[in-house]
Amino acid sequence: MPLADLFRALPQTDRLLAGPAFAQLIERHGRSAVVAAARCALDAARDEIRASEALPAWAQTPEQLAARVAAQLATRRRTTLRPVINLTGTVLHTNLGRARQADAAIAAVVAAMQGAVNLEYDLDGAGRGHRDTAVAELLCTLTGAEAACVVNNNAAAVLIALSALAAGREVIVSRGELVEIGGAFRMPDVMRQAGCTLAEVGTTNRTHPRDYTGAVNERTALMMKVHTSNYSIEGFTRSVSEAELAPLAHEMGLPLVTDLGAGALVDLAAYGLPAEPMPQAMIAAGVDLVTFSGDKLLGGPQAGLIVGRRELIERIQSHPLKRALRCDKMTLAALEATLRLYLEPELLAERLPTLSLLTRDADELCAQAGRVAPALQSLLGDAFVVAAEPCASQIGSGSLPVNRLPSWAVTVRAADNQDRTLRQLADAWRARATPVIGRLGDGRLWLDMRCLSDEAALCAALTAP
Ligand SMILES: *Cc1c(COP(=O)(O)O)cnc(C)c1O
Repeated sequence: MPLADLFRALPQTDRLLAGPAFAQLIERHGRSAVVAAARCALDAARDEIRASEALPAWAQTPEQLAARVAAQLATRRRTTLRPVINLTGTVLHTNLGRARQADAAIAAVVAAMQGAVNLEYDLDGAGRGHRDTAVAELLCTLTGAEAACVVNNNAAAVLIALSALAAGREVIVSRGELVEIGGAFRMPDVMRQAGCTLAEVGTTNRTHPRDYTGAVNERTALMMKVHTSNYSIEGFTRSVSEAELAPLAHEMGLPLVTDLGAGALVDLAAYGLPAEPMPQAMIAAGVDLVTFSGDKLLGGPQAGLIVGRRELIERIQSHPLKRALRCDKMTLAALEATLRLYLEPELLAERLPTLSLLTRDADELCAQAGRVAPALQSLLGDAFVVAAEPCASQIGSGSLPVNRLPSWAVTVRAADNQDRTLRQLADAWRARATPVIGRLGDGRLWLDMRCLSDEAALCAALTAP
């Protein structure tokens, strides 16, 4: 058939849209979206005609074209940001959105999203409320601090604290604590952005109290400690603890600020986990201001929490950056609900997903791997060899990478032992409507069971059309 006849065999857009197959689509998606998708389908059909000199198999009838348009519109509805199944073994995976939220936090966010809330509206009628009030009161209760405030994330907390308290002046920090957290958060860069001058003291491995006190001059604004959460220096080392440094700073009339990073509000060692510094211990040690993340070990939404002396918090609250870095009602709702869980500590490990995932029992993980492995084997057939094997999970989010938690994985090997076969499987699982994300290593795809709460959902994700 000549090309012109083939083109003519395709319906005009208007005629196509007038047909019964399209009426339903227009009702569901509205006319303009359907028109655009129909044009797009017809363009694709013309391209194929030019290339193959035949009418494409999917464009023979108006019904077929409608099916193509329907599929395109459905794909467009699927959001790019969507749930994934995290089998990487990293519980607080920054690239996968860190902490899984508690049921109470989810309910609070949904309620806040659906309508008006008393965000800055004082229900006692005593005057204009402040959006941080509810969370700040809880943070004071939990940490023993005089005052608190909340910003977008911990990087923002450090930025605003330094901007409000030390712009145009010097901040004394140990050379061993000039950390890079990843994702372009480097302490010296944040200092520069806040307008302060960094006064580095000590050496990479050793910093003494006299290094801090010897660096004080009339331009010094504060002393700062940074928790070196993602690495450790071992061997011939010396650092100055907050408890040691606070009285020295105060003697010289300076505040001491600590950036804790993760900051656990409960003693993780009591759960058999690697100990992490606690904000309340820092306040008790005399630190004037402590910053930490909402979505790391705390297990809440992304937020930066600042607790400490009232006078310093007030300077932060009234800094112009506060408006730019403030949290919205959804974050505050989730954060308040999460913090309330800490008021009933015996039930925390049950209610806070971060803690329940971190404390999952190795025997339970082993049993789960034993259940999932045969299901995956029958799904994959004999091109792959599936097994249950012990592995080690990571806490993630800047926790020490060497601190591993004993866990169990379902591992998948390619029967042909080709890396390519395995990589294709990993890619295919990552491309599913609900992506399944494991970790490649040692010639296997490792699916750590630690963060798998719903085994049926895993099988459904891998088998869904
Ligand atoms: C993670 C971390 C930050 C950044 O916190 P975000 O909440 O990711 O912005 C800052 N300082 C330290 C020490 C950290 O570990």
